[in-house]
Amino acid sequence: MAQHQANDGASNILAGPGVSRWDCPCCGESVPRLLPNGARNAVVFELADGVLSEAPIKHAVRELAPRFGVEICLGCRDTVWQLLGTLVTPETGETNQPEPATEADTAIIGAVLLGLDHEAVITIFSAQGGMLTLGERVPLSEFAPSRMIYPEYQGDIDNLVWWAYQAHVAGLPSLLETHLL
Ligand SMILES: [Zn+2]
Repeated sequence: MAQHQANDGASNILAGPGVSRWDCPCCGESVPRLLPNGARNAVVFELADGVLSEAPIKHAVRELAPRFGVEICLGCRDTVWQLLGTLVTPETGETNQPEPATEADTAIIGAVLLGLDHEAVITIFSAQGGMLTLGERVPLSEFAPSRMIYPEYQGDIDNLVWWAYQAHVAGLPSLLETHLL
């Protein structure tokens, strides 16, 4: 019966490809141009990759004049996919005993934008005055993943936020086909 040979140490492990590096505009870091398997560590970031389709969100994004059609690293592509369209709880602030968040305070990550800072900026939209409105702008490295939530049902979440979330979820299969096939 064939057995895997035990690796007798790290002496036969070579360092990753000694390739040049480039500055990814999403993570804002210097990343290798190639992955260890030789694949390019870059993918073009288009508007549909970083912005939900709701008109108020697109309108607000246009006013910020972000960049599209530029390359980001593959790790960032995955990060953006995980962030965009996710429901989030409010920023709790710096007080030790923040006001407890309620479902009605739930907001949505409406866009992840390049060109506004040295790294991506996460824009968070909430329902105000009967419209999805840009609230926070958070640099990617400062966003707390613990804010992301995954509710099973709407509860008291505002209709506009919930519908934007549902629309994004419904569009995911085609989005994945577009990117993976
Ligand atoms: Zn990156």
